[in-house]
Amino acid sequence: MFQHVEPYPGDPILSLNEAFQKDPRPQRINLSIGIYFDDAGRIPMLPSVREAERRVVEAAGARPYLPMEGAANMRSAVQDLLFGAGHPALAAGRVATIQSVGSSGGLKVGADFIKRWFPDSAVYLSDPTWDNHRAVFEGAFLECRSYPYYDATTGGLRFDAMCEALRAAPERSVVLLHACCHNPTGVDLTPAQWRELVPVLRERRLIPFLDLAYQGYGDGIEEDAQAVRLLADEGLGFFVANSFSKSMSLYGERCGALSVVCPDAAQAERVLGQLKFTIRRNYSNPPLHGGQLVARVLGDADLRAMWQAEVDGMRQRIQAMRQALHAVLSAKRPGRDFGYFLTQRGMFSYTGLSPAQVDRLKDEFGVYLVRSGRMCVAGLNTGNVEATANAMAAVLG
Ligand code: PMP
Repeated sequence: MFQHVEPYPGDPILSLNEAFQKDPRPQRINLSIGIYFDDAGRIPMLPSVREAERRVVEAAGARPYLPMEGAANMRSAVQDLLFGAGHPALAAGRVATIQSVGSSGGLKVGADFIKRWFPDSAVYLSDPTWDNHRAVFEGAFLECRSYPYYDATTGGLRFDAMCEALRAAPERSVVLLHACCHNPTGVDLTPAQWRELVPVLRERRLIPFLDLAYQGYGDGIEEDAQAVRLLADEGLGFFVANSFSKSMSLYGERCGALSVVCPDAAQAERVLGQLKFTIRRNYSNPPLHGGQLVARVLGDADLRAMWQAEVDGMRQRIQAMRQALHAVLSAKRPGRDFGYFLTQRGMFSYTGLSPAQVDRLKDEFGVYLVRSGRMCVAGLNTGNVEATANAMAAVLG
């Protein structure tokens, strides 16, 4: 009956993670998967989220279904977080927001919506991008193309080439943009470059789709929402999928949202209706618990302040690891410029290592990176950063 079903080759990053788990070497170091680990190598339970959970559990009673679009308190808390409370687009009722099953779910609901209402639009992805972007949009039967992004010679951004490619894109093309902390490279647009991008998006009537999976890991919670706020201030219509997996360390609770900024309230209402329909025929409605943790943290002034300090701490710890890695590598390989480790933002850095060098790191030193050379800097800690830097210096030859 199922003879014709082809084997699933597996997800390269998740497979690597499984190989790491099976590796018997006690000193092995996992810098492959995109998870924030604390200095003791553990996934943190944030005290603000723990306290929110205590309150949610204490108040919990019956477990009704949520509406298709999710919990109202979570949705409005997300809107305030992304746009800033009282933003004119929110006040005008121009933003349609649904609670999603992680931001992956938000990307998928958005992709299905785009296929239904913009069936001829292709989706432009940065070169490179998170592998699952292509999988999600192609899975919604949309054509994916790419625009230049990462500059391998400088470890920076090919901004002019990016703008040129977008200027040549057909009208109403969808442009997937990482709002901060680009995955996999760590290379972001500067605020000035975001401002330069706006007329390109406007003139070509492009449809921006922001992916904000690492809010707080770049420059801060507010700072990392700047791209969202800029596009909203400029009056553009766009999509934004955001995640709490990393920022609240709520990976398995699958907390995220999708917001669509529309020209007016009437259109926003119709868009929300169609998003609900997409959800209804996929999974009907989102789960209750995780979204309520998010709503509690964001909705209580004390917990919100606690969370902000916790996110600041995670970001600063990553920054300290970047400094430490940079210091050891610069000392061991004085002829080489490792400055990109300091300028790149967020959880990831493109190390510039070749697949063969990445294989050597794993086989000889037990240091696991993705074969593209992507390193999850958030997997470094005071106990393993020096060993990692030494191993890297060795394979760099
Ligand atoms: N977008 C990007 C760029 C990501 O790196 C990730 C997680 N690896 C996601 C979206 C999805 O995150 P989640 O579904 O856990 O919210």
